[in-house]
Amino acid sequence: MSDLKQKLDYVLQKIERARIAYSRHQVIKLIAVSKYSAVQKIAELYSCGQRAFGENKVQDLKVKSEELIRLPLEWHFIGSLQTNKINMLLELNPFLIHSIDSLRLAQELDKRCALRQKKMRVLLQVNSACEENKNGVRIQECLEIYHQIKTGCKNLKLEGLMCMGANSLDITKVEKSFRITKDLFDDLQDPEAKILSMGMSNDYEIAIANGANLLRIGSEIFKSSF
Ligand SMILES: *Cc1c(COP(=O)(O)O)cnc(C)c1O
Repeated sequence: MSDLKQKLDYVLQKIERARIAYSRHQVIKLIAVSKYSAVQKIAELYSCGQRAFGENKVQDLKVKSEELIRLPLEWHFIGSLQTNKINMLLELNPFLIHSIDSLRLAQELDKRCALRQKKMRVLLQVNSACEENKNGVRIQECLEIYHQIKTGCKNLKLEGLMCMGANSLDITKVEKSFRITKDLFDDLQDPEAKILSMGMSNDYEIAIANGANLLRIGSEIFKSSF
């Protein structure tokens, strides 16, 4: 068995254990974050059954998705999105943009979608760890901005929330940031809000314990040792 397949299986086992501990009814999907990785590895992971991949730079998404155009991959954009990259990103037709971090960005994206008569699936990113250097709307504004996007941006299909866990070795802090996001998610009162994107290599089991259903895992799958 290849090293990569072994690592994928290891991660899938950990996810499954955490999923069952949370709820047998929870359906969880994994995005393999390929930003550290060359296209051969992505193709190899595809041959192991992995379909969803994530990139955090528009340029990298372009290069990799075009090189792998022959494979039916599902590409997620998870990084911070500059206005001058919106057109390039829309050309690439990503499956989901996780990182809408302001009303202004949503409105700009909506406008560009309207011009192209295109609908785009998006998540609102919330800075639930309240860290200065993190993107995302503030906790207190999250519900209001969510509904402003919902009612004002007709070309966006807003389907839930995304966050990054607190950058801390203190598990209670990490837990708190996920719990806050889950509480906001439960308060959305939107039947289309199905996606709670949280959990990375260092914290996905904690994210699952707090209701995450879309995981973004990179280094634990792609880096050369456990
Ligand atoms: C890089 C990245 C990830 C994956 O991080 P790992 O720690 O490598 O699993 C997840 N989400 C975002 C937004 C990222 O930029």
